[in-house]
Amino acid sequence: MSSRTVIRVAVPVPLRREFDYRLPATWQVADCPPGVRVRVPFGPRKLIGVVTESPATSTLADTRLRPIIEVLDSTPVLPADMLDFLRWAAGYYHHPPGEVLQHALPALLRQGEAPQARGEARWQVTAAGREVDPATALPRAPRQAALLGELQAAGEDGLGTADFAHHATWREPLARLESAGWVTRSWRMPIHSGQGEPGPALNAEQQAAVDRVDGAGRFLLDGITGSGKTEVYLHLIQQAVDAGRQALVLVPEIGLTPQLLRRFRHRLAARITALHSGLTDAERLTAWLAAARGEADVIIGTRSAVFTPLARPGLFVVDEEHDTSLKQQDGFRYHARDLAAVRAQRAGVPVVLGSATPSLESLQQVAVERATHLTLTERAGGARPPRFRVLDVRRQPFDGALSPVMHEMVAAHLAAGNQVLLFLNRRGFAPTLMCHDCGWIATCQRCDSHLTLHRGDNRLRCHHCGAERPLMTQCGECDNTELLSVGLGTERIETHLQEHYPDTEILRVDRDTTRRKGSLAEILEHVRQGGRQILIGTQMLAKGHHFPNVTLVGIVDADQGLYSADFRGPERMAQTILQVAGRAGRAEKPGEVVIQTHHPDNPLLMTLVREGYPRFAAVLMHERREAGWPPLSHLALLRAEAPGRGAPLNFLQQARELAAPLCPTGVHLLGPLPAPMEKRAGRYRAQLLVQCSERRPLHALLSQWLPQLEAAPWAREVRWSMDVDPQDMF
Ligand code: ADP
Ligand code: ZN
Ligand code: ZN
Repeated sequence: MSSRTVIRVAVPVPLRREFDYRLPATWQVADCPPGVRVRVPFGPRKLIGVVTESPATSTLADTRLRPIIEVLDSTPVLPADMLDFLRWAAGYYHHPPGEVLQHALPALLRQGEAPQARGEARWQVTAAGREVDPATALPRAPRQAALLGELQAAGEDGLGTADFAHHATWREPLARLESAGWVTRSWRMPIHSGQGEPGPALNAEQQAAVDRVDGAGRFLLDGITGSGKTEVYLHLIQQAVDAGRQALVLVPEIGLTPQLLRRFRHRLAARITALHSGLTDAERLTAWLAAARGEADVIIGTRSAVFTPLARPGLFVVDEEHDTSLKQQDGFRYHARDLAAVRAQRAGVPVVLGSATPSLESLQQVAVERATHLTLTERAGGARPPRFRVLDVRRQPFDGALSPVMHEMVAAHLAAGNQVLLFLNRRGFAPTLMCHDCGWIATCQRCDSHLTLHRGDNRLRCHHCGAERPLMTQCGECDNTELLSVGLGTERIETHLQEHYPDTEILRVDRDTTRRKGSLAEILEHVRQGGRQILIGTQMLAKGHHFPNVTLVGIVDADQGLYSADFRGPERMAQTILQVAGRAGRAEKPGEVVIQTHHPDNPLLMTLVREGYPRFAAVLMHERREAGWPPLSHLALLRAEAPGRGAPLNFLQQARELAAPLCPTGVHLLGPLPAPMEKRAGRYRAQLLVQCSERRPLHALLSQWLPQLEAAPWAREVRWSMDVDPQDMF
């Protein structure tokens, strides 16, 4: 009695398999094609899954197959190519397929809503609202008055959610203006028609790059900051659109700025949609559907946009392909660059990976001729690249932040009416609070880390778990009241420079000063207009923004990355230094970059500043080869964590014993070892590294090992995860 049709479903549960169901007797198999969402029973629950196939037979006996409850779609929400790709990705990353498919769907589809486009809310003033003087009409409601003023200034098109981002609260005051009849709401699709304005004529290198990208394949666009990579993307995208195809453009989180979107809209003759974190669920669904249905030609987004279905794929672009934000670090741990390359290959179209500081992974692809190297060596528009200078700060009279030479340089650049950018990737006042008497250090109770001192509100904060407490006035061990703040944070540099340069405006850009929505945009706008200024910032300042008036960039502390526990430390350090350096001298004004270090003889640092990134990368590649690290080998990292110290290590030891007999030759198990920061947010963490010079045996082991691990009762004692191609060893 096997007349029942089997339907295989990816159900959103943390198990590395799909599940079989049967069609209710009266249904046709055509009611349940692959890619439609179905509601199915799962234990006592009902879950929404996606049909993946209808196999001839099931591993389950007929009588044990439970019927599908409901079909949610009349046509597949995931087209066949996307479904195949996602199932492939689940296999590659050894991640539960149901969770992978969930990840690819917009929230509203996950929740069972209909796949219907919905507009983006826009607000306009009414005729009555136009007549009102905000200040006199709303003396006691400054928020409403401000919003009304902005809407009056905005004209017919009105304003959307993104335009209100700089207000702390706006929904409620706006609703009041609506009920007063001064403002109305309408809906518009989150798709913009680009203006197709012409840009500068390409220079010879840019033209050569554009010409080389003439078919399927992987292309590494390796061009120094300001060399015009974005112009190359724009040309290639327009070509794809003119040929009736769509382009998907991935940018790092920090790079998806309003400026970038404006540039794309200004230049491209295309329907453009952006997938960014500011979208509402409805807007995101609408943009996603527009891409899937071919109603948008260009889709720009961050990491997760790599899962956007395309009706007519023609080109994939990954900007800043080395950027760490392209890697998802929890749950489904994928790399958006690598997935974009796979999608392009499956679609038979080109993928362009752009960077001023390419990842060693991409350079290795070039070396083995799996990618074509396109280089841009000149700054476009005639701007000159910055000069580097390394400052030895050993035994220098160190006034707490900058060496005397650095101070001289800052003063000189300010005197010339220019701007100075100081980079330090550590916010707060000081990373350590120490007793002057007994050496006691204020540490986080939940993490193996020091508490950072924040002077602004006199608190101690843990930057790893977010714990905080008021600043104490007495040592935690002895009764001494002399507590020293040791080390440098952006807040301290700010205070310090304020004393040195009382007449100069100083702007600090870090998570603490930009917590309020829109405040980063305000600061950046101020910098663009301003004259003599000092900018102090973290990573937030390093990417994507152009500061035409900055002529001096100071890297306050280059030593963090040099002696990192992670083998990728030096690569990241170099990428950061060059990214920050790229902010200087973008316009007519040539820039200067000064690097403070206690290790001026460090050979890697010297290679970087004297011989440049390509030579630096070649040296690193040699080291990686010697040590057997990626990209000359392949890694997978099994992580475990639990509230007690022993459990993760025990689990990993058992996991290791389980793996040993399954291990193909050439696959090495390293560990288990405690994580470099063992305790974090109250949980102990440990890891077991799997390494192999070939990808295939490594994956063969994972395919056998993980299902056994998943089934092992002792594995439930800890929280564990598998990270294939880990980017971060912590
Ligand atoms: P990248 O993306 O490599 O940092 P951009 O594409 O943003 O570089 O270009 C840097 C600046 O140079 C921009 O202001 C851009 O308009 C300008 N630019 C790029 N290509 C040219 C060109 N061929 N001629 C003149 N200006 C150019
Ligand atoms: Zn003490
Ligand atoms: Zn902590």
